[in-house]
Amino acid sequence: MELLGKTALVTGGGRGIGRSCALALARAGAQVVVAARTTTEIEEVAKEIEALGCRALAVSLDVSKLQSVEAAFQQVVEKWGGCDILVNNAGIAASAPIAKCSEELWLQIIEINLNGTFRCIKAALPTMLARNWGRIINIASIAGKAGAPYISAYAASKHGVLGLTKAAAQDVATKNITINAICPGYVETDMGEKAMNIIMSKTSASKEQARAALEQTTPQKRLFQPEEVAFLVVALASPLAAGINGQAINICGGAVPY
Ligand code: NDP
Repeated sequence: MELLGKTALVTGGGRGIGRSCALALARAGAQVVVAARTTTEIEEVAKEIEALGCRALAVSLDVSKLQSVEAAFQQVVEKWGGCDILVNNAGIAASAPIAKCSEELWLQIIEINLNGTFRCIKAALPTMLARNWGRIINIASIAGKAGAPYISAYAASKHGVLGLTKAAAQDVATKNITINAICPGYVETDMGEKAMNIIMSKTSASKEQARAALEQTTPQKRLFQPEEVAFLVVALASPLAAGINGQAINICGGAVPY
């Protein structure tokens, strides 16, 4: 229960990696704000947390809209005094080769994955600075470190998240606040499923073949589980992780060695 007394906010907490992070943070003692656009999903996760005997709050949030971000964080300030731990997990993925990547697709991905992360960091910092303690964990991707075909916009957004992480971490380094990123390979979630469906629709691959193609992207020949990401989120949120700042830690089975 090392996070007892802390308030965590997880963006995109309604499903996939975000849901696992919300549950793991609650198990570690934090009270958790579950934030995303789909009300039914965030309310369901909040109920799961309460069933563990922990406190949870479902808050409607669209990270692509400044007003929504400000309103959501204001709600947390009013209810629980603000958040100590922010997990910037909300994200989308879409694929297109660069020649066919539309302006609209590019802007949508940058808006949610990169600008959304910036907005939430800005909204969370006043409380953290006032309390002289904070943990910000950005869920990036190994696509934030290496390129691959069809994902220019996604890779640009995640490379941007890593740049933001490294620079912002230096701004708050003397304030007992750390900002780090986690870079997973393919994780078994709706987003992972979508990646398989795209492979199936663009090639004649079966579901098994599409899955195998994703598994081949790591020396471990497997997909990663949301709980593996949540494990690292809890570790980085821990008081003992105070010296880890501005880092981008891979969960990719050794696929990207930097
Ligand atoms: P899912 O699609 O399963 O979940 C994405 C979550 O983000 C949902 O809760 C969704 O909720 C939320 N979200 C999307 N857009 C917004 C928005 N505008 N405002 C608020 N919330 C939003 O994805 P994963 O769990 O797989 O991915 C989570 C993160 O991990 C993403 O940042 C992704 O890029 C990253 N990642 C995923 C990998 C994978 O293979 N799955 C690999 C590496 C990184 P709602 O739509 O209700 O708003």
